[in-house]
Formats: sequence, structure tokens, C-alpha cells
Amino acid sequence: MSNEQLNPFAIAQSQLDTAADILGLDDSTRQLLREPMREFVVTIPVKMDDGSTKVFKGYRVQYNNSRGPTKGGLRWHPDENIDTVRALAAWMTWKTAIVDIPLGGGKGGVTCNPKELSETEKERLARGYIRAVGKILGVTQDVPAPDVYTTPQIMAWMMDEYETLRGEAHPGVITGKPIGIGGSQGRGDATARGGVYTVREAFKALNIDASKATCAIQGFGNAGQHAAKISKELLGMKTVAASDSKGGVYNKNGLDVDALVEHKLKTGSVVGFSGADSISNEDLLELDTTVIFPAALENVITGSNAKNIKANIVCELANGPSTPDADDILYDNGVFVIPDFLANAGGVTVSYFEQVQNTYNYYWTLEQIHEQLDRKMTHAFKGTYEVSKSKSINMRKAAYVISVDRVAKACKLRGWV
Ligand code: NAD
Repeated sequence: MSNEQLNPFAIAQSQLDTAADILGLDDSTRQLLREPMREFVVTIPVKMDDGSTKVFKGYRVQYNNSRGPTKGGLRWHPDENIDTVRALAAWMTWKTAIVDIPLGGGKGGVTCNPKELSETEKERLARGYIRAVGKILGVTQDVPAPDVYTTPQIMAWMMDEYETLRGEAHPGVITGKPIGIGGSQGRGDATARGGVYTVREAFKALNIDASKATCAIQGFGNAGQHAAKISKELLGMKTVAASDSKGGVYNKNGLDVDALVEHKLKTGSVVGFSGADSISNEDLLELDTTVIFPAALENVITGSNAKNIKANIVCELANGPSTPDADDILYDNGVFVIPDFLANAGGVTVSYFEQVQNTYNYYWTLEQIHEQLDRKMTHAFKGTYEVSKSKSINMRKAAYVISVDRVAKACKLRGWV
């Protein structure tokens, strides 16, 4: 694939086109759903600790709000750009639709390298971002959440800045907050937990014995670490490999996940973990495991390496890890892909529960969160699997068909198309 074809937004549009073809969508609806409804690009000056001022670019894209206020994470990454944000905002639109929560899709970010920022610089950047885009945020407009390299602490600073500007309490303006200032039980591991629920359902559908299953995790961050822990806790699965931006580790007999999390916390990477061999990010994806969890960034399974994937199931916790070329190869080779906006919808689902609790000012127990999340994820998986079987299409196309149909119907009911 050329670089142009690997542009995540071009990929998101081509995936939409495929679903529109299957659904026989009219041209005006297709045109509307191919583009974000609103985009904001802002410039954020930040005072650095040494007294200098650094200028950052920030983004917020509100892709489609036909089903409710837009919702989606904030990514702080050196490669962040408007096309990535557009793609992620589109995927959020399909994600809120597949789990059938009354929200639209949005996304935001800042081009920066958080590893080079001190805590006080991060706080000033977080507050600066809200001063720049705060006017277009709110529970009835658009609600951000954490994503790559943003944390509950960053959400807390952002909520505080928003409430300071408004002079009133608005805990629901942002989700993924720490517990104690409006965060929800179960938000921290919700993305991974939701993904593991879908793997459990896939095991049932494909007759795979969970107790003998193994997995490899690319991207040992928030989603990846929790996937390792929860797949063991709920399904008895063994994690044999894990990686991050610095490299990976592998032990065919299984890694001690808690010790690996500890090691990553201490050293900043999984690299150098004792009792394991090193493995590259590329080789990790090609391991003969039952499940692979891509949990880092986009375009890691492409037309060039898809034929080497040996896992039975790819559970896409990351957004956009597989290209359309890869999808076709994986499907032909019988690799069962649980597509990103279904597999990682647990995060936004519990974010939605967080918003509901903030609005009611009444908080649920962890058990209630897990039960409601399981219900939503299981229902979404089963619906997608049924469409995939009945139309003989892969799970991504099936999920698109369901979500695009829901969003298109909402646009029609509003009289937009
Ligand atoms: P995170 O910042 O906590 O972790 C990302 C991890 O990926 C880090 O360990 C990093 O070292 C690693 N990484 C970065 N570049 C890499 C590379 N080239 N190769 C291998 N590893 C690399 O982020 P996260 O919140 O866990 O998000 C991971 C993915 O999951 C993203 O695609 C994100 O959009 C998606 N996601 C996250 C959530 C959530 O609630 N956190 C929800 C939905 C989707």
C-alpha cells in the first residue's frame, strides 16, 4: 500500500464506502457520512518550566452528532495530525452506534511528545487546550476522554479548567476522570475488559477452548496491560508476549503479567524483563497464539504481513491496526478479526456510564458497571456475528453495516438527508 492509501482517514472513508455499497445508501447520505461535520484546529502557547514559550497545535473534530452529543478521546502524540483525528472521530461515530449508546462521534488531540514534558508543563498544556476549545465542549455538545498518552490526571486538570471558565460544576464535560472527582468505577480497564468479553463470545462461536488459549499483546499501555490481566482473570488465558514502542518480550510458557507491569512502571518499558527473550513488534504479530491484541497504533497489520498472521483471532483494541488489504487476506485465511470499533467499545461505553452517573450525581458499584458493560458488549458482538454469517462478510463489514445503518437512519429522521 502507498502512504496515501495508509492515510487513516482515507482508510476510514473506504471502509464507509464498502458499507454504503452493501446497504445501498443514497448518495447524499453517503456524502454526509464520508466527512466530519465540524473541525477545529487551534494554536496553544504554553509556558515551559525554563521560562520559554512553546507553541502546540491542537485539534477537535466533531464527526457526526445525529444520535447524540459527540464523544471521543484526546490523543497526545508527536504524529498526531488532522487526518488521524478525522479517522478516529469517524470510528467513534461507528463505535457509539455499534454498542447503541445515544452519542455521536468526535476525537481530539495535540501534536506533542508527552515524554519530553514535565508534569507542570502537561498541566499547562491541558488547561491551554481547554481554553482553546472549551466553548465547543459540554455534556450537550461534545465530551472528551483519555486516549494514547493522556491520563485521568490530565482529564482532571481539563475538567477543572472548564469548570473554572464556566463558574459552575460540570463533571460530565469529560470522562475518564479519577474516582473522587466524578470518575466511574471500572473506567480504567473498561476498554480491555470489553475486548475480552468479545473474545469470550468469539471463543464460544468458534468452539475454542479458553483454558488452552494463549495471547500476544502489541502495545503494553493502558489497554494492553489490562487485556493481559483480564484475559487471565476471566478466561484463564496465558500471555506469551508483550511489546511497547521500545521493543518486546516473549516466553512461550507465559509471562508473569503482574511482574511485567511492575517492570514497565519502573523502567518505562517491557524491554529487559527477566525470564523472557526479546522479540520485535513485527515478529510478535506473527506468533502462533490463539489471540493477538494489537493495542498500540494504526496500520500494523498490512497487505505485506497479513499472510503471516497465525493467530485464530485478532482482537483490535487499538484503533485502525489493520488496513483494508490486510482485512481481505485475514478473512481469506480464516483469521477471525474482532474489529476495532467493536473490540474497543468498552471504553466509551463506561465513559457513557460515567456521564450518566455525573448527570444523576449518583454512583454505581463496580459490579453494576461490569454487568452493564458485559450486556452491551455481548449484545453488540452477537448482532455483528449474526450479520457477518447471514451476509457472508467479515466482522468489520458487518459492524459497519449495523452502525452506518443506525447513523443514516438518525440523519434521515432529523431531516438532514
Ligand atoms: P497508552 O498510551 O496507555 O499505551 C500505548 C502503548 O503503545 C504504550 O505502551 C506504547 O509504548 C506502545 N506503543 C507506542 N508505539 C508503539 C509501536 N510503534 N509499537 C508497539 N507499541 C507501541 O494508550 P492506550 O490508551 O492503551 O491506547 C492504545 C490503543 O487503544 C490506541 O489505538 C487507542 O486509540 C486505543 N483505545 C484506547 C482506549 C482507552 O480507553 N484507553 C479506548 C479505545 C481505544
